[in-house]
Amino acid sequence: MASRLAVVSGGSRGIGRAVCRLLAESGCRVAVLSRSQEAARDAVASLRGDGHVALCCDVSRPQEVQRTFESIQKSCGDVSFLVNAAGVNRDALLLRTQPEDMVAVLHTNLLGSMLTCRAALRSMLRVPGAAIVNIGSVVGRTGSAGQSVYSASKAGLEGFTMSLAKEVASRDVRVNLLAPGFIRTDMTAGLEEAASLRVPLGRMGAPEEAARAALFLLESPYVTGTVLVVDGGLQLAL
Ligand code: NAP
Repeated sequence: MASRLAVVSGGSRGIGRAVCRLLAESGCRVAVLSRSQEAARDAVASLRGDGHVALCCDVSRPQEVQRTFESIQKSCGDVSFLVNAAGVNRDALLLRTQPEDMVAVLHTNLLGSMLTCRAALRSMLRVPGAAIVNIGSVVGRTGSAGQSVYSASKAGLEGFTMSLAKEVASRDVRVNLLAPGFIRTDMTAGLEEAASLRVPLGRMGAPEEAARAALFLLESPYVTGTVLVVDGGLQLAL
């Protein structure tokens, strides 16, 4: 039997790249989505096993997402797992946030995940035990000064995740949200010291620590419509 196919948006770097690595190690074929073909290829080249593909796709562009998933269907078959790790931040106080930055954050983090879920879903309905993990954030639950738009995108993603979980549960597709705190990636460069002071466990998380939680959600057949917080206890301190 062919191995399961997993699609990971934002698989070129950070948490998404760690998710790709664990999925490949668990025997999945992985389709890595990035805005850069070269970055996606680089991620694929680092994966164990065969049958992985690199795709250039900006998740904020509806037609590009649709085309990408049509080509995945054609060349790789039905999608078992979808992980939405593509995300951007443009952190600033609201009064200093430009409207184009608001659009970029909402279109990538929220609309982007909606578009990939919509594009993958028909295929996933045919696969027993298919599952989606959207990557939200602890600040989508708590709020964060200087991150109002980013937090809104992640709070919106949580509502979207719960609603979609209800829509597709009867078809045996599970949808969950992973809510990381401070994870050491390009997105959090320079925040090491602030994080270690604020996080009860006293350190940032590694991308693999968030990725392991994503794998748990993908592989747990009785878990849907839930939020898994992976934040070293940060929520306790907010
Ligand atoms: P990262 O290292 O900056 O990686 C972001 C990824 O998103 C890259 O692979 C990037 O790929 C991709 N991406 C960005 N815009 C895209 C677009 N329009 N279309 C397709 N791909 C796009 O960030 P990270 O820390 O791993 O974050 C991963 C997810 O976790 C994000 O949703 C982030 O909001 C969330 N998160 C992170 C933390 C943290 O502490 N790091 C905490 C909470 C939540 P290319 O640049 O190659 O296109």
